[in-house]
Amino acid sequence: MNNKFVLAIHGGAGTILKSQMTKEKEIQYKNVLQQSLDVGYKVLKSGGTSVAAVEAAVIVLEDSDLFNAGKGAVFSSEGKHELEASIMRGKDLQAGAIGGAVSLKNPISVSRKIMEESDYVYLVGNGATQFAKEKGFEEVPNNYFYSEHRHQQWQSVKNSNDMKLDHSHATDKKFGTVGAVALDVYGNLAAATSTGGLVNKKYGRLGDSSVIGAGVYANDQTCAISCTGYGEFFLRGVVAYDISCLMEYKGMSLNEAAKKVIMEKQPSIGGEGGVIGVDTDGNSCMIFNSEGMYRGKIDDKKSESIGFYEDVF
Ligand code: ASP
Repeated sequence: MNNKFVLAIHGGAGTILKSQMTKEKEIQYKNVLQQSLDVGYKVLKSGGTSVAAVEAAVIVLEDSDLFNAGKGAVFSSEGKHELEASIMRGKDLQAGAIGGAVSLKNPISVSRKIMEESDYVYLVGNGATQFAKEKGFEEVPNNYFYSEHRHQQWQSVKNSNDMKLDHSHATDKKFGTVGAVALDVYGNLAAATSTGGLVNKKYGRLGDSSVIGAGVYANDQTCAISCTGYGEFFLRGVVAYDISCLMEYKGMSLNEAAKKVIMEKQPSIGGEGGVIGVDTDGNSCMIFNSEGMYRGKIDDKKSESIGFYEDVF
């Protein structure tokens, strides 16, 4: 055991521009990110595992309606909310994920339960709900996820075939998915991602966020990664695993590997978004090819940063 630990979080990437942000909104976002970092820090500081820390940090983000995950999940084409989440443990490559969840308040916690207390990795729809109920999870009505601003956002596309990113203006693209990665004092990594997906999605569409290797990955030999961005491209690029592979097989550093994937490989197929990552030496990265990414980081020295745009506060 050493005393080193790191936690990084994100609340989605996209067209996050200072010019479109009010002071009040900025404070609101900052406060929730801060709270998420604080909660995760406490877990790691008291000797909790990286899995416990990423779960705790993501729960804070899921419980806020500012982000497209949990409470703030976007509307599907049917006017409902379908949630996805995933978690992975780097020590033994164990993972749990959930898709098409319509009544589970904190999908990340159900994902962790799947990882720790089932023989499965990925459960979807009614079966996932049944599993959660058997494990004593609280069900909420689907309208628990209703928020006025998401409803407004859906109105502009609901009668079209368009599946939109989590955005509120045509020029304002935001991917509000949330995630966390951590290194704990035992030297173990974990990653977690949670989302409501894309606005007006249909046909049971699932993105990258709940897919192990695409929107999330953790391996103690390399890194822990959580993604946010246009899911179809992140799925095709198997982004999180690709970063790990570049480290494992090409000997790249975390930063080099993440830059290669997000700044070169994703743009080459049209993918937009970003990732957060941490490795077992405690190096971390927050790389995005969009204008901004809601993000934060804290370590054992309580050295902390929160940022939305290119620069951090
Ligand atoms: N990756 C998510 C999806 O495609 C969207 C996001 O990151 O906000 O479902």
